[in-house]
Amino acid sequence: MTQSVEFSEPYDVVVAGAGPAGGSAAYVAADRGLRTLLLERRGPPRDKTCGGLVTNLCVDFVQKIFGRTVPSEIQIPPSPMPVFVAPPSGRSAGFLVPHEYVLNVTRRGFDGWLARCAEERGADLWRDAEAIRFLPKGDRLVVSVATRDGRTDIETRYLVGADGIHSRIRDQIDPRPFAQRAYYIQEYCPRTGDFEDWFYLMYRGDTSPIYSYVIPKEDLLCLGIGIHKSVAPTYEVGMQRFKGWLAEEFGFRDLGPRRKEGYPVPLGGIHMGKDRVLLAGDAAGFCYPPTGEGITFAVQSGAAAAASVAQGRDIGSRYAAEMSKVAAWIEAAASRTLHLTDAEREARIRMKAGL
Ligand SMILES: Cc1cc2nc3c(=O)[nH]c(=O)nc-3n(C[C@H](O)[C@H](O)[C@H](O)COP(=O)(O)OP(=O)(O)OC[C@H]3O[C@@H](n4cnc5c(N)ncnc54)[C@H](O)[C@@H]3O)c2cc1C
Repeated sequence: MTQSVEFSEPYDVVVAGAGPAGGSAAYVAADRGLRTLLLERRGPPRDKTCGGLVTNLCVDFVQKIFGRTVPSEIQIPPSPMPVFVAPPSGRSAGFLVPHEYVLNVTRRGFDGWLARCAEERGADLWRDAEAIRFLPKGDRLVVSVATRDGRTDIETRYLVGADGIHSRIRDQIDPRPFAQRAYYIQEYCPRTGDFEDWFYLMYRGDTSPIYSYVIPKEDLLCLGIGIHKSVAPTYEVGMQRFKGWLAEEFGFRDLGPRRKEGYPVPLGGIHMGKDRVLLAGDAAGFCYPPTGEGITFAVQSGAAAAASVAQGRDIGSRYAAEMSKVAAWIEAAASRTLHLTDAEREARIRMKAGL
């Protein structure tokens, strides 16, 4: 929609990044009658390295914010899936989480759909357009945008940085140290072994200091582990041990990965922005460390940021108050996640399950 973007008037809100945080922010801003511009440096649609699991809580947020259910066209089989948790002591001590289901989506489909909803609601969507930097100018901001055709300056009253873990917008306010990032590495393998159409969360410190998982994706299994540079094991060692665990307890046979990929996720270090700039999603640090679940909190925080702007007063403090419980919950989890022993993991899992 590059052609229809009109820059003569300042925007009320510019949103940088059309992931779940940006799509939700732009939808809510446009819905509240704000003149809104959504910028995305790649597409949309675009792919994102991710397990692509959407939780019940996220489905509820989408329903509440967008007034719609997640369409079946952007889900891939099997979907929905029950959630099975295996503690360090193994599969036999594992259990299905009562009433918990996840949808299996492609991020290309899910994020593309959210951006389309925002556009339909009245937001301008500028594809292949990257927010490079912002500068204050009186009671406005000037956002410098790079495209294949060159650079353009856009004026706006507020900027929402929803530009992911490598956020340029956040870097301008408060560069985040690497310690506040973990990495998830995924291998897509042919489907072998005794796996149901379930999402398997598995916790054992010698495979990952965070957690490991198996996600059935059509005829493949996506095996994932979370790693951190300061704590053993390395990716190679962790993945090898994880496959060993799966072979022993599920009869998994490693026929070689069809695809490997990895990407960082935030590990605490939440920053919600400053002055006329609000940060949402991964850019703000809204990702739950023990499971790497970030889509839910991206949708929630993006929508909350835009709703605060629409209120027109005490915008930063309103947004911070709205997200304060989630922020505290994430920070607490971030500080303990990497350092749990297997005995502590086992006890926490049993306690949470009421066992
Ligand atoms: C391997 C892996 C598996 C995961 N699995 C799950 C899962 O199953 N479920 C779950 O809930 N979470 C999962 N997560 C976390 C989840 O992917 C993120 O938390 C989520 O994508 C955050 O959404 P976001 O909108 O904040 O950022 P992103 O999804 O990263 O979107 C940011 C967007 O901004 C664009 N952009 C970047 N810079 C600029 C710029 N300067 N200007 C304009 N656009 C820009 C990017 O191209 C991108 O489209 C996983 C993460 C990883 C790494």
